[in-house]
Amino acid sequence: MVSEAMSRIDETHDPKRRSWVASANGHPDFPIQNLPLGVVSPPGGAPRAGVAIGDRILDLPALLAAGLLSGEAARAAAAADGATLNALLGLGAGPRRALRTQLSALLAEGSAERGRVEPCLHAAADCALHLPARIGDYTDFYVGIHHATNVGRVFRPDNPLLPNYKHVPIGYHGRASSIVPSGTPIRRPNGQRPRPEGPSFGPCERLDYELELGLWIGPGNDLGAPIPIGEAASHIAGYCLLNDWSARDIQAWEYQPLGPFLAKSFASTISPWIITPEALAPFRAAQPPRPEGDPQPLPYLLDAADQAEGGLDLALEVLLATPGMREKGLPPHRLARSSARHMYWTAAQMVAHHSSNGCNLRPGDLLGSGTLSAPDPEGCGSLLETTRGWQQPVRLASGEERRALEDGDEILLLARAERQGCTSIGFGECRGCVLPAHGS
Ligand code: CA
Repeated sequence: MVSEAMSRIDETHDPKRRSWVASANGHPDFPIQNLPLGVVSPPGGAPRAGVAIGDRILDLPALLAAGLLSGEAARAAAAADGATLNALLGLGAGPRRALRTQLSALLAEGSAERGRVEPCLHAAADCALHLPARIGDYTDFYVGIHHATNVGRVFRPDNPLLPNYKHVPIGYHGRASSIVPSGTPIRRPNGQRPRPEGPSFGPCERLDYELELGLWIGPGNDLGAPIPIGEAASHIAGYCLLNDWSARDIQAWEYQPLGPFLAKSFASTISPWIITPEALAPFRAAQPPRPEGDPQPLPYLLDAADQAEGGLDLALEVLLATPGMREKGLPPHRLARSSARHMYWTAAQMVAHHSSNGCNLRPGDLLGSGTLSAPDPEGCGSLLETTRGWQQPVRLASGEERRALEDGDEILLLARAERQGCTSIGFGECRGCVLPAHGS
């Protein structure tokens, strides 16, 4: 039987397809098989929709104005009018796929339209990258089971996972206003830090990162009308990387009983390109079977097709560059290598669960996966885990040590989809450098 995802593999995924944009061929992130969507400002120009191709960005409004798109693809590009992609995301898979098909043909080697497409390209290095959508709501889940176990072990060594974990996809409502695109500096938050003599207000002393995947919501649902699990995947318009910066000392003091608040809401960084489900079709994976003895998901979260191909085979990486390393010309230090396969719940299960009470999801809403740690010590998606609760510092080639992030430290998240017989694609960068706290 040909699975649904495999049936969606078409000529746009053909590893033999090359682009006349020479830098796209062999590009680690943006070969012609990717074609991610974003919002960019070319030099002196207003923000507009763009598509990454090699080290160039295709200007979607310019392409549309040149009459190079037709039918559903033209409808998709027209919806991307202005500085956000919300309306395009809301159109769902049909127009998005039509756009991909026409873009791929226009950019492929041998395209008769090369001469007309070429003037619609900008050098990516000259463009500013923005958030791709106006994020109405942001929810952060906790589906990385090894992270949940590692964190739980610090508090409950014998019973690290709480009893609800394997029944319900845990999440909390995050803050949308402080989500920033890659490259935006992150100001260390001030807050209440616990002290034996009582809390004191000042700069966070345990600043951390979290390696996460972000999910962009597509069409979404009306208030009161849940999305069935079998339809949930069609409401995911794409993926990005997400760094859920975390102030652990502030978090430890404030989180009871209502969960994270100011320890998280000061900033979250995302990679600015929306990697579409179409681009990721060759990299779908079966959801790993639950270990013996784990409960089956309740029926509203269980769908055979989702279990068969609702996972994603994505290699994830965290890199750290400190001022000391930069001074000595040292390359970034790899803090962790993990994978999106360590999700206990699928993206579709997150969507179905989120809407199961009737809560409406809207185009451009963002869901975070939660920290995706691997089960091994080299796969920890946060410093809290890497340092075993701040006990074991990370030693760097510069001679520096880190338990928590210091001012001037830069965290870079990367994601890469690879499979034999397919052209690899990447997500681009999710980068942020820590600035000193306000007033210090
Ligand atoms: Ca998180």
